[in-house]
Amino acid sequence: MNDSISNHTTQSVTFKAETRQLLNILIHSLYANREVFLRELISNASDALTRIRFEQLTNQQILDPEAELAIWIEADNEKKQLIIRDSGIGMTSEELAENLGTIAHSGARAFLEASMKGNAQLSADIIGQFGVGFYSAFMVAEWIRVRSRSYRPDAKGASWFSSGDDTYTIVEDDKADRGTEITIQLKEDAHEFADEYRLSSIIKKHSNYIPFPIYLGKEKKVANQQTALWRQPPQKIEEKEYHEFYKQFTLDIEPPIAYTHLSVDAPVQLYAVLYIPASAERSLFSLRREDGLELFARKILIQEYCKDLLPEFLRFVQGVVDSEDLPLNVSRETIHSTKIMAQLKRLITSKVIDLLKNISQEKPEDYKKFWKNFRQYIKEGVATSDEYHDSLLPLLRFKTLFNPEELITLDSYVSEMKPDQKKIYYILGEDERSLQKSPHLEVFKHFGYDVLLLTDPLDPFMLLRLQSYKEFPLANAASEELKLPAEEQTPGEEASTLQENAIEQIINRFKTVLGERVTDIRVSDRLIESPARLIDSGGASTSIEMQRLYRMLGREVEIPKKALEINPKHAIIKKLSTLPADHPLGQQIIEQIYENALLVEGLHPDPTGMIARIQNIIEAALD
Ligand code: ADP
Ligand code: MG
Repeated sequence: MNDSISNHTTQSVTFKAETRQLLNILIHSLYANREVFLRELISNASDALTRIRFEQLTNQQILDPEAELAIWIEADNEKKQLIIRDSGIGMTSEELAENLGTIAHSGARAFLEASMKGNAQLSADIIGQFGVGFYSAFMVAEWIRVRSRSYRPDAKGASWFSSGDDTYTIVEDDKADRGTEITIQLKEDAHEFADEYRLSSIIKKHSNYIPFPIYLGKEKKVANQQTALWRQPPQKIEEKEYHEFYKQFTLDIEPPIAYTHLSVDAPVQLYAVLYIPASAERSLFSLRREDGLELFARKILIQEYCKDLLPEFLRFVQGVVDSEDLPLNVSRETIHSTKIMAQLKRLITSKVIDLLKNISQEKPEDYKKFWKNFRQYIKEGVATSDEYHDSLLPLLRFKTLFNPEELITLDSYVSEMKPDQKKIYYILGEDERSLQKSPHLEVFKHFGYDVLLLTDPLDPFMLLRLQSYKEFPLANAASEELKLPAEEQTPGEEASTLQENAIEQIINRFKTVLGERVTDIRVSDRLIESPARLIDSGGASTSIEMQRLYRMLGREVEIPKKALEINPKHAIIKKLSTLPADHPLGQQIIEQIYENALLVEGLHPDPTGMIARIQNIIEAALD
């Protein structure tokens, strides 16, 4: 082969516009960590090797079936060239045009968009976070030649060439053996990449766990660890290495919250390294584009995103699973229905739950972080999983009326219950602060019963399945029927209250003003600091929780009809009952008491609408 831009018989093909843009940015910006180009080329070679290994399982018609599956890297310090060769699946001339002429890669596209929005410095710092793909080699290349020969016995070799300007060429090539060979003529300022010592350290840093040997230099020294991390004995691996593997696997910037390494022989053979990521959202630049674990069977990649190894609610877990017991002759489509898969799933799921239990006990700070970012998944599991419902309950954490800043377990709630307490009390609401002021909880504060404060949108769903814990039923503190044990024993205190006939009168005044807006008006002896509260009266079609949920989902809801309970011991109610029936303020005050009660429940459709009335009342108060 000739190294110059030769072959006048072929035509140049123009790159697609966005490829040109990407090349332009890569060539003309200064990148601190352009060494990542090597990671990208090695990763492509490794993909090509993985694919040929899979093809070999079923296909006899392969070029060079005996070839060693490996990657060879050589530097020519005289010519300042770098050559990366693999015995992978190779490409035909059509495939060269298709794969190296357009941006298929989502990481490359994300990078392009980020670069065009941000300044060049920004992209300089973040390029290592993107899987920019093949084109990243143009950061260091004067020109690149890709010679390739497909595994298909009848395909001819082909050679792709470009110097990173607007065009590339493809010509026939006499390459005899299967695979791809990439020659890079290094730029003036990139000669460091012709140094084998430098190359060796880049490979260790970014590509150590590539599962094929990477031979470096003329002596063909193996430069990577190669044995997959998950197949090594756990006691020999340090935390640092698990974190490094995670970084190479996901490109996440943040280290994982926790990890576990499984090496199991019975009931099924299994190696796995599993991670709890730091955040529930995959970053735009993540190498992992879908949920699911990477599944290997006897070192062969069967599925990149296997969703059948964990229940839906644990879909945030990242990692690799490898089993010697999985049959290789099943197709990727039917693998999920094998019996072994069900066994693997059970095993892996219980190990992940154990891992979470473990950090919840040994590393409370880490668990706090986990709970903050992933609690909805655990609640989803409690709500949807029959199999794991019970084992998830100890993972739940709650803020409570008496411990609003801490997170406690159901067990610790139960151990703090009052001697006469037979139920676990909870209240649903939008946030802890307003819940603490809820009129429903006044009596709980008064008698000293703690209440779980449930403020997640998922909580109402979770409660559908979480109706008791140990022998204690859960009870809604806002429910009409609820009576605290202490209330049953001690009759209500003899605080001064309204006379029978005054009560009847005031109830009638409320009825006249509020009319159809409430289903009923009655007095309550359970209120202490509030003049009134709204309560679900039996037969309400949707519960207060569901109405709140609809509001959060942005659905239109009518003001739900509820019963209004008023507190005959409250100063406002007592003074109101002495106000002459025809006093103009009476009606406004009743309206305001009702709307305040709506507000406290998080059900007021238009709080600012109250301002005019409040101003009237203030004026009257000042007179
Ligand atoms: P990605 O690897 O994410 O698909 P790249 O830009 O790195 O994106 O590569 C583009 C495509 O070129 C690959 O998907 C693959 O089809 C092809 N390719 C690149 N390098 C090789 C190689 N060494 N052997 C075979 N095909 C390759
Ligand atoms: Mg790639």
